Amino acid sequence: MSTTRGQLVVISGPSGVGKSTILRRLLARLPHLIPSVSATTRPPRAGERDGVDYHFIPLEEFERRRKAGDFLECCQVYGRQHWYGTLVDEVAPRLAAGDWVVLEIDVEGTLSILQKFPDALTIFVEPERPEQLDERLRGRGTESPEAMARRLEVALRELAEAHRYRHRVVNARLDDAVDQIAEILRQAGLPEAAAT
Ligand code: ADP
Ligand code: 5GP
Repeated sequence: MSTTRGQLVVISGPSGVGKSTILRRLLARLPHLIPSVSATTRPPRAGERDGVDYHFIPLEEFERRRKAGDFLECCQVYGRQHWYGTLVDEVAPRLAAGDWVVLEIDVEGTLSILQKFPDALTIFVEPERPEQLDERLRGRGTESPEAMARRLEVALRELAEAHRYRHRVVNARLDDAVDQIAEILRQAGLPEAAAT
């Protein structure tokens, strides 16, 4: 898997830190950055679209595809509740074509990816203070109290892994965090404007 020509970018960080929000803005600004749509067994949230935010699939299908080797990496996030995985088909053909592909995955998934793609550009998004995660998850209003408690517990463990990433970006002001990541990508060689 090291003969690929494109660049793999991994964005991760604890739940509620702002990864999806940041990524949405980056994708709107950087036409050469292509998102990998993960598969998950978790149910869609209001407003989430199948095939855009995730491929929402039942557990049996996830299991079948896992056994068939369809995933580059997959794991059960948050206290073994739901499965999430990066599909080979979302990544390999695009890398082979020379594209920049971005994954938004958890820390465990990042470590698996780094074993296969040691040159992946890894970016960890951190809060200014850990309590901010609780505030933002409450503000988003998508999780039950139990799910929030589980996410926050995992988040504290994930924060301790930040040093494994090539870059760390604090998401205090959203615009600043987006600018910083865009600059990291630009310096790594991502073309900025759309080809004309
Ligand atoms: P994640 O994808 O990391 O779980 P989200 O992108 O869903 O996190 O963000 C969690 C909540 O925090 C959302 O309601 C989002 O609008 C809000 N948020 C994201 N970044 C900031 C920021 N810099 N300042 C304040 N609120 C933010
Ligand atoms: P959420 O349920 O909030 O969309 O995502 C929960 C967590 O799962 C986040 O930390 C997100 O980065 C992670 N995640 C999403 N897709 C994948 C994936 O394909 N693989 C792994 N390992 N984690 C993922």
